[in-house]
Amino acid sequence: MDAIADQKARLGKAAADFIAKPKKMLIDGEWVAAAGGKTFATVDPATGLTITQIAEGDATDVDRAARAARRAFESGDWPKLKPRDRERLLNKLADAIEANAQEFAEIEALDNGKPVFFARHADVNIAVDFLRYMAGWATKVEGTTLNISGAMAPGADFHAYVSREPIGVVGQIIPWNFPLVMAAWKIGPALATGCTVVLKPAEQTPLTALRLGELIMEVGYPKGVVNIVTGFGETAGAALVEHPEVDKIAFTGSTPVGKLIGMNAMKTMKRVSLELGGKSPAIVMADANMEAAIPGAAMAIFFNQGQVCTAGSRLFVERKVFDQVVEGVAKVAQSMKIGPGLDPSSQLGPVVSSEQKERVMSLIQAGYAEGARAITGGKALGDQGCFIEPTVFVDVKPDMKVVREEIFGPVVVAQAIDDINDIPAMANDTIYGLGASIWSNNLSFVHRMVPKIKAGTVWVNCHNMLDPAMPFGGYKQSGLGREMGRAVIDLYTESKSVCIAI
Ligand code: NAP
Ligand code: MG
Repeated sequence: MDAIADQKARLGKAAADFIAKPKKMLIDGEWVAAAGGKTFATVDPATGLTITQIAEGDATDVDRAARAARRAFESGDWPKLKPRDRERLLNKLADAIEANAQEFAEIEALDNGKPVFFARHADVNIAVDFLRYMAGWATKVEGTTLNISGAMAPGADFHAYVSREPIGVVGQIIPWNFPLVMAAWKIGPALATGCTVVLKPAEQTPLTALRLGELIMEVGYPKGVVNIVTGFGETAGAALVEHPEVDKIAFTGSTPVGKLIGMNAMKTMKRVSLELGGKSPAIVMADANMEAAIPGAAMAIFFNQGQVCTAGSRLFVERKVFDQVVEGVAKVAQSMKIGPGLDPSSQLGPVVSSEQKERVMSLIQAGYAEGARAITGGKALGDQGCFIEPTVFVDVKPDMKVVREEIFGPVVVAQAIDDINDIPAMANDTIYGLGASIWSNNLSFVHRMVPKIKAGTVWVNCHNMLDPAMPFGGYKQSGLGREMGRAVIDLYTESKSVCIAI
């Protein structure tokens, strides 16, 4: 690939103005530098050039933010707001993002590398939809009344009920693959239920969260309700997990970090919800509509450069259509225009960082070393940015690294299905259980298969179709708890039983 010029030149005025401003953290309604005065660079993965410097928050800043969130939760204007006020604020925030949609898309494309078209039409729209969906929940948190017998006090009567109360201060730690979407998914239910937040964006992609912070203050959230601390996981993230004023940690990221966070959170018995990694199967049957299944299986892995927790990274195809499907997926890969996110014609951008590029390339090398064959792709492109060719591996065996490990890049491993009775065992042969797709027009087969797949979401004749109404989360080592839908309310509220003698 040719060298790519500084992409900042491609930004519209709003995004360029935002990038040009010094970057601070949002603590207690104020934009502040890190207490230690340190900063770190956020980098454009298409060029390797620094976009801007970011405040490097650490334990001291997390402490300020957590205390501010505690004050905001216990006193001040926030607890006085009624559910409909919280609904209105969330809707206003969604409107404000929508009004600045192109700016958000450009900032995301620059910081993360993703094609601006997808950033605009997937990321921004998903974030806006999700916040509006959660706005509706603010007025719909319900409890139950109970008809209790009172065995210890024969003859007495009681009125008993269960109410749901906001958990309190929530620490939210998010990854870099969908930075704005992840921020919205995290703050939405917290703000709908009346919690307060300390959010730590990923070090690679802090920019859209900071822009979101500006809008949060503009639309009128009381100070301290949302605090945003930029910094590193090992310092700022870890401090959030340990902080005594934080009641819950909501984390999205890798399974190893999720386990560490879960263990550390237990020291203060924090509530924990975890959305972790995956190695999701896409299962294509011979009776599927190939016009949908082939591009569907291709986009299941190549969308967002494969950096999707539910990416269809293990492709299983019935033997008699194996060559047709795998060659079809390879053809889609070859047709994708690779380029920087801010080039409107790009369909596949760079992966997020040079570390990620090295990680993915070392797994591709492991694939070759263990005897897998790439029928397309397999190489890094150019020496300046973090571009990797979309790659399709065949001749793979179940114990190979490329089959077992989450690659989180544009790499799929294809295996043939010889006996349909083997499908559940093949699909479930992983420590993960986040998503799966089945491509088939045989309704009975699909219904027999769905209960046998150990995954939090099973798609049929589609993949990666997320909706705020659909609970989302993982079986096995893909996580703990379900975000979205009615289920997320339980993650952000405590249950309180009340018993009144009458
Ligand atoms: P990661 O290394 O686990 O980082 C995720 C977040 O955790 C970042 O904000 C990171 O901060 C922070 N962190 C790292 N170490 C920490 C520690 N010791 N204590 C507290 N926080 C810590 O994951 P990633 O590489 O950013 O993202 C890729 C992974 O996320 C993939 O495995 C993917 O499957 C998973 N993911 C899952 C979902 C889902 O919904 N299930 C969605 C998206 C991504 P720094 O950025 O500063 O390191
Ligand atoms: Mg970056």
